[in-house]
Amino acid sequence: MITSMKSMLDHASENNYAVMAVNCVSMEILRAIIDAAEEQHSPIIVNISPRQFKAHAPLELIVPMYTSYAASASVPIALNLDHGQSYEDITKALRLGFTSVMFDGSTLPFEKNIEYTRIIRSLSREYACSLEAELGHVGVAAEGDDETNALYTDVDEAVQFIQQTQVDCLAVAIGTAHGSYPKGKKPKIDFNRLKELKEALKIPLVLHGGSGAGEENIRRAVQLGINKINVCTDLFNHGREALRTALTETPHIDLMDLQHVSQLAMKDYIKNYIAMIGSSNRYDYDVSKAKALD
Ligand SMILES: [Zn+2]
Repeated sequence: MITSMKSMLDHASENNYAVMAVNCVSMEILRAIIDAAEEQHSPIIVNISPRQFKAHAPLELIVPMYTSYAASASVPIALNLDHGQSYEDITKALRLGFTSVMFDGSTLPFEKNIEYTRIIRSLSREYACSLEAELGHVGVAAEGDDETNALYTDVDEAVQFIQQTQVDCLAVAIGTAHGSYPKGKKPKIDFNRLKELKEALKIPLVLHGGSGAGEENIRRAVQLGINKINVCTDLFNHGREALRTALTETPHIDLMDLQHVSQLAMKDYIKNYIAMIGSSNRYDYDVSKAKALD
């Protein structure tokens, strides 16, 4: 069933676990995501970013596929626009049936981030959609942004930001970054800052750039208050490696069989991840309240 992200993440925050938000640009990934969630009896979030839908999976084509498969699923599924930055992209997603949007104003000055987030807040409410914002800036791993303390989320600013924007969840910068870290590197997460943010804000917090962060870091982040984890790079790499192995072992494999191999490998990866972040067997919260955001 399709739900908003708010009820899902409020439940996760109250019960101290996290929900996966998985970037999806194809039918195989969509089936891997939803089949994994159903087998784990877990809520899940289907994510797509403007970069991805412009480069590969136009929203007009992919959203009807998302909604038809998600509507028939036995577990709650939210459809989320990941890193929306322009008014056009966000309104398009709202019109096409997303149940949640992220407005990423993290590169704007603090006051501008608040101002624009408030505008998107009123817009998303008209569509009964939940809203994620970002404060501090989760940058790019290849550029070493995970180690740039100046980009980390400031606790006092975060309190002010939440008071003024009333967003449903907040992406925080605590030492992770997007993409792959240099070989052999694990990011150093500022767990004290995460703890202070959770105590001060008491709302669902989101971790971006979790790929390559390592299981121990992810488990600890969930313990300390992360309730949504975006997963893209690690999953895409896993799907690619499954294709590479299948092609090496069986060079003339049928194309449908090849895609199926990748789909099943990604499903297994997602199932394990769901178990690690504690969202297995959690779908029994009151989904009838899921659409009521106010
Ligand atoms: Zn992100």
